[in-house]
Order: sequence, then C-alpha cells, then structure tokens
Amino acid sequence: MRTTVGIIGAGPAGLLLARLLHRSGIDSVVLESRDRAYVERRQRAGILEQGTVDVLREAGAGARMDREGLPHDGIELRFARRRHRIDFPALTGGRSVTVYAQTEVCKDLIALQLAEGGPLLFEAEALAVEGAETENPRVRFRRDGREQTLDCDYVVGCDGFWGVARNAMPEALSRVFERTYPFGWLGILADVPPSHDELVYARHDRGFALLSMRSPTVTRAYLQVPDGTDPADWTDEEIWDELDRRLETDDPAWTLRRGPVTAKSVTPMRSYVHEPMRHGRLFLAGDAAHIVPPTGAKGLNLAVGDVVTFARALVAYREKGDASRLAAYSADCLRRVWQAERFSYAMTTMLHRAPDATPFDDRIQLARLDRITTARSAETDLAEAYTGFPLDQQ
Ligand SMILES: Cc1cc2nc3c(=O)[nH]c(=O)nc-3n(C[C@H](O)[C@H](O)[C@H](O)COP(=O)(O)OP(=O)(O)OC[C@H]3O[C@@H](n4cnc5c(N)ncnc54)[C@H](O)[C@@H]3O)c2cc1C
Repeated sequence: MRTTVGIIGAGPAGLLLARLLHRSGIDSVVLESRDRAYVERRQRAGILEQGTVDVLREAGAGARMDREGLPHDGIELRFARRRHRIDFPALTGGRSVTVYAQTEVCKDLIALQLAEGGPLLFEAEALAVEGAETENPRVRFRRDGREQTLDCDYVVGCDGFWGVARNAMPEALSRVFERTYPFGWLGILADVPPSHDELVYARHDRGFALLSMRSPTVTRAYLQVPDGTDPADWTDEEIWDELDRRLETDDPAWTLRRGPVTAKSVTPMRSYVHEPMRHGRLFLAGDAAHIVPPTGAKGLNLAVGDVVTFARALVAYREKGDASRLAAYSADCLRRVWQAERFSYAMTTMLHRAPDATPFDDRIQLARLDRITTARSAETDLAEAYTGFPLDQQ
C-alpha cells in the first residue's frame, strides 16, 4: 500500500489531519489500532478553544458542533468561599471557548472521512516506523493477523502517548522533559443538568474540584484524588458529598444538583514534552509528542495546533515549493506547546493541594488567586491562555 501521508492513530490529531489534507487534495491513509466503537466512546477532553472551533468549521466539520456545542464566555474561580467570574470576551477582545466533547469531534470526523476521505483502517496496529531519514519512510502494521507495509512520502505519528512513532526518533537526538504529580482526577459523568452554566474551578484545603458539563443534561465533574486511587473506592454519594464540600461558597443562591452517576474513572496527571517533534520525514503530533495535566484544558487543542501546522507546511511546500515551514515544524509547534505547558502547570499548582503542602504554600496559592481576581493584567493573562493563542500567529 502506498500514500503521500501515512497517519498513525485516529484520535483527534490523526482524524483532523486526514481531513485537512483531503481538503487540500493530498491523499493519506490512517491506521488505527482500535475498532471504531472504541474510538467513538473514549471519554476525554471537552473544551474547544476558539482556534480549534474555527479550524473545525473551516474543515467542514463544524455543523453538529455549531448546533450542539455550548459556547462559554467565561469560567468561575472559587476559593476561600468566594466566587469570581473571568469574562473571556471582555478580556481578550471577543474570544471564547466551546464545550463539545472529544468523542463527538471524533464521531464527526470519522463520519466525514469514511464518506469522503481516504482510507481509515480500524484494527490496524502500527508496529514500527522505518526509514524516517529517507525519501520514502514506511509504516509496518498488522491487520487481520497479517503484517503489511504502508509506503509514504511522510509519516505523521498521531498515536498518542503510548504509541510507537516516537520510538523511531533516534535516542541521541531526543530530549524528554517531564513532571509527574502526586495526585490524579477522579472524573464522573452524571445524568443531571449542570449546577452552573459555566465551568467552576475550585481551590479548597481538601483539594481541587472542577464542575463541568457535557451537555445541558449531563454533568461532568472532577475531584483531586491521591495518585493510584481506584474509582471503585468512592461511592456515588461520597463523590457528591466531597464535591459539595470543595465547592462551598458564602453565596446562598448556589446549590449542587445531584443525579445518577453513569461513568467513573481516574486520570493520572503528567507534564511531558519530547523534543524534537520531527526527524527527517517523521513528524509527531498531539499526545505522541506532549502531555499536559488537564487543568488548562489544552491537550486536544494542542493536538489540533500541531496538525494544522503540519498541513499548512506541506501545502506551502507542494504549492509554492517553500520547504521552510516543514523544516520549522518542530520549533513552531514547540513554542506553542511550551506556552500550554506553562499555563497548565501554573493552573495545576495554583489549584491543587500537594500532599506535602505547608501553610506557606496554601497562602501563596490564595495570593495567586487573589491577584487574578484583583489585577486586570493577571486576569487577562489567564483569559488569553485559556481561550488559546490564535493559530495564525505562527
Ligand atoms: C483518560 C484521559 C482523559 C483526558 N481528559 C482531558 C480533559 O479533560 N481535557 C483535556 O484537554 N484533555 C484531556 N485529555 C487529553 C486529550 O484527550 C488528548 O490530549 C487528546 O486525545 C490528544 O489527541 P491525539 O489524537 O494526539 O491522541 P489520542 O486521542 O490518544 O489518539 C491516539 C490514537 O492512536 C491510536 N494508536 C495508539 N497506538 C497505535 C498504534 N501502534 N497503531 C495505530 N494506532 C495507534 C489510539 O488508539 C488512539 O486512537 C485526556 C486524556 C486521557 C488519556
């Protein structure tokens, strides 16, 4: 089998890349190790930056998102029983975010790819990338119990943190930057309308809590829990009680709505960057190259930024003979990635309580939050980072 761009992985990065290339008349083949139902069910991110929304619309994949997505003009910070709203459009010159689940983005892109695009092969597991330094890199993969080869002009590893593409980066050229955190997120989905119409990020002495949503009838909520927590350790009632405690406020008008919990899982927290993101004709995109803790809602949006950068660079090369943007792919992406790493780290350390936190650490967290709620410059910095930096600044 032969194609121009071999894409490993049908997460948001791989699916969107295939779509962008198809719209530019460039053929691709997507290899995905899981089956379609698994990919469409996998619960993950839910906040789309303005730039991501714009890209999905331009790619002709925004129709259902525009109908069913929930535009959000702000978030609430909650700490020391206080409530403070961050007004995104007022602070950023009109930018906002949209709540639309990653599962739905993937469903939309899969349907488009199968209807109009190039081959999208499920249950096709990439085993290795070979010949990255040559003009004709290859992906060895297994499908229907048979090993096959996909010959390409370019390979883009969109195969997530546990994928194989990164292994083809020479060890001598690779640098890894990493931080793990001694806590994770216990996340629930519940069949109950959200208790607030925007996301609530709460810093509490008992730990962080986040009140989010998937739709007007489905609540998504998270609790900071110790690393290694088993979701089965928490009953539904204990989760609601703990959310109630951590979201406490002096405002008597606010109450937490409870309902049947339909899913429960624990997500570990990690910051990770692999440099460089390109070697020869192998490019890494999305979680294959970097991970952020979810506090900044950046993971999916970074994946989108990477594949837009690659698609634009390849089009510039093919249409104008300008190879400079392909050459600059890693540096261009990493500038954006490190801004997201900085923001995600800052949000995580400001809102979570480390197991060894001292009273001094607590006061510093409260001072950082107080600064955001009283200094417009600090508030603007948060709003700009949360809504995302425009993709066309690259
Ligand atoms: C449990 C969890 C919860 C998360 N929650 C949030 C959140 O609340 N907010 C947020 O912003 N971000 C969150 N993220 C991060 C966000 O979901 C990711 O950043 C995003 O999915 C990245 O997209 P991607 O396409 O790069 O990778 P992925 O979505 O991981 O897709 C990679 C794809 O490659 C496939 N694959 C892997 N290996 C191979 C192989 N050898 N051959 C073929 N295919 C392969 C996988 O099956 C998968 O479909 C979460 C991540 C996880 C794991």
